[in-house]
Amino acid sequence: RGASLTDLAEKIGVDAASLVQVLFHLGEMVTATQSVSDETLEILGAELEYNIEVVSPEDEDRELLESFDVDFGEDLGDEDDLAARPPVVTVMGHVDHGKTKLLDAYRKSNVVSGEAGGITQKIGAYQVEANVDDQDRKITFIDTPGHEAFTAMRARGAKSTDIAVLVVAADDGVMPQTIEAMNHAIAAEVPVVVAVNKVDKPAADPTRVRGQLSEYGLVPEEYGGDTQFVDVSALTGQGLDELLEAIVLTADAALDLRANPDMPAQGVAIEAHLDKGRGAVATVLVHRGTLHIGDSIVAGSAHGRVRAMINDLGENITEAPPSMPVQVLGLTSVPGAGDNFLVVEDDRVARQIADKREARMRAAQQAKSSRRKTLDQLFEQLEKGETQELLLILKGDGAGSVEALEDALSKIEVSDEVSLRVIDRGVGAITETNVSLAAASKAVIIGFNVRPTPHAAQMADQENVDLRFYSVIYQAIDEIEAALKGMLKPIF
Ligand code: GDP
Repeated sequence: RGASLTDLAEKIGVDAASLVQVLFHLGEMVTATQSVSDETLEILGAELEYNIEVVSPEDEDRELLESFDVDFGEDLGDEDDLAARPPVVTVMGHVDHGKTKLLDAYRKSNVVSGEAGGITQKIGAYQVEANVDDQDRKITFIDTPGHEAFTAMRARGAKSTDIAVLVVAADDGVMPQTIEAMNHAIAAEVPVVVAVNKVDKPAADPTRVRGQLSEYGLVPEEYGGDTQFVDVSALTGQGLDELLEAIVLTADAALDLRANPDMPAQGVAIEAHLDKGRGAVATVLVHRGTLHIGDSIVAGSAHGRVRAMINDLGENITEAPPSMPVQVLGLTSVPGAGDNFLVVEDDRVARQIADKREARMRAAQQAKSSRRKTLDQLFEQLEKGETQELLLILKGDGAGSVEALEDALSKIEVSDEVSLRVIDRGVGAITETNVSLAAASKAVIIGFNVRPTPHAAQMADQENVDLRFYSVIYQAIDEIEAALKGMLKPIF
């Protein structure tokens, strides 16, 4: 998900621009940084004679965990062991429509009913109680409004939300970010409950909001659809209980929110920071299992042992059941928001998993920073007068084309200070021999309608050898000429 040609180029050690060209010739127009489908990547792989297997970061991580005999996922165990868990809710909507006010209103009601004497801890999430059909039901709110956080977490593979509350100001109506938020929720397959807010305002027109959203497919129940709309005022408190009820009813109707509380805890870190006195502090939401003091945990590439847990009322607790947000103390470093966390056998396993993840992250980082080097650098050096000669190795799909290319290159007018020299040429794929010569002599390899062998590509990546691919002669000439004149435009 979300891989771009630049990502692929890094992985296989070729130039992203050439991948853009290859795809263009296959009839697809994409930019280097745009995300492309797995299918496109595979087609490209076939064309380049790479066997591309798209492995999502989640799969990669799952494999890592499996190698430690840890299973992370949806498997909740025996049907008999399952118990209902509260829904986790994210509040989304257009700016100024009242998301923060709504979250504040519920957080305050939580304090009133709590026992901590009115001191709330802002820990990133909190729980409120709703009375539905004479039953006390809990709801967990993620205390950050907006879909940026939601999307960021989802991008990391975290399923942190069960239900989205879409806040729409009744006086303002549906706005661009309303639709955007709605689309994020739909894409994540998260059911939506609509809070039609600010109904206390004279200009409020809740019926219009219903009509507008119906056009986008969110049809109110009273119109025969399956979306709950509730008129509320975060200011006066009107409708807030009804909104909680609508959330519970939607969860009951659309979702099977159950978890086995009797297994090692797993979940997601929704917030984390470094506290001067307490060290790394992370708020986690348990998805399944129960988290206990003393558990050895991994969260992203952080690990440690649960030293203390603090709930949303600032109370120290000893165990956290599913959907209860808790601040966890005892991690050795700060995980990222959206990182999954899990309890493992012991500290040693926790450390090993964390270290492996850390190493993988570093490797990815390095791949990024080492990419696309030589030609640009060479041109820089040419400009600075540090290098006087641009060395090229030409590989093409036929003797004729290689000759034509060399011929055209020789006609490039270069200044007195710099020159261009072809040190090797040949027909066929770019080989390891080509790459090692290029590496030794700091030459750039030009592939004309040819590709490197997988080993050559790998080697080029390791050796920082620049491979450039062209399928039209004048493009090759243009780029090299421009480069020699110190005018190479960035390709991206
Ligand atoms: P956000 O950007 O969606 O988080 O919006 P805020 O919660 O910051 O609210 C934006 C403004 O609308 C603030 O001035 C709030 O006081 C006001 N506001 C929020 N909810 C209501 C409401 O129900 N009625 C009225 N009259 N004003 C509200």
